[in-house]
Amino acid sequence: MIKWIWIFVLLNTLFLFQPDVTSLEKSGIKTIIIDPGHGGNDTGGVGKQGLLEKDVTLDIAKRLQKVIEGRLSDVRVLLTRDGDYFLSIDERVGFANHRKGDLFISIHTNASFSQDASGFEVYYFSPLESDLDSIQQEFIDEGIKLAGLIQKKVVNRLKIRDMGIKGCYFLVLKDVMMPAVVIETAFITNPSEEDNLKSEGFKTDLVSAICDAIQEDIR
Ligand SMILES: [Zn+2]
Repeated sequence: MIKWIWIFVLLNTLFLFQPDVTSLEKSGIKTIIIDPGHGGNDTGGVGKQGLLEKDVTLDIAKRLQKVIEGRLSDVRVLLTRDGDYFLSIDERVGFANHRKGDLFISIHTNASFSQDASGFEVYYFSPLESDLDSIQQEFIDEGIKLAGLIQKKVVNRLKIRDMGIKGCYFLVLKDVMMPAVVIETAFITNPSEEDNLKSEGFKTDLVSAICDAIQEDIR
């Protein structure tokens, strides 16, 4: 009889002392890859006042890394580049897959020949009919979900023009083995949006809203 009591106590203790399984651990999200677009000789878009897309994307990526790591202590955030140098598409994709990322977020600024073009949009991967066996294929639904959440949170927070989410055959998304999106943060070719991209307040709110979306996505 005494033996059975001890087994009972032991089992109870095991259950009582099981570590709290947070929703984050349940979601399986351990590593988030942030990909600052362009770099080195590839400046990306250029604003009328001289702002370079490659500098903005790196700045926003570093801010986003800091905010995510501050809020989600169990998640590590890795940048495909952390300085001003060129990276090929293959290097970006290889980095994300080798580090076994669980989410891939590529940061860009939009550009147009018309300096009036403005707004915020997020892209998910959409395959070509001639290429239906890309790796990203199986993650498209999750990419659409993440894109939708980012779009909603950012537009609500920043009160900027909502261009919606769109599917696109982006090479940087095609062979990434995790849900993946490209964020077009603002039009660098629109002078007032170029000002936004230089503004502390805009960038702080932007990365905070993107992080809100990630938290809701992995909940
Ligand atoms: Zn770009």
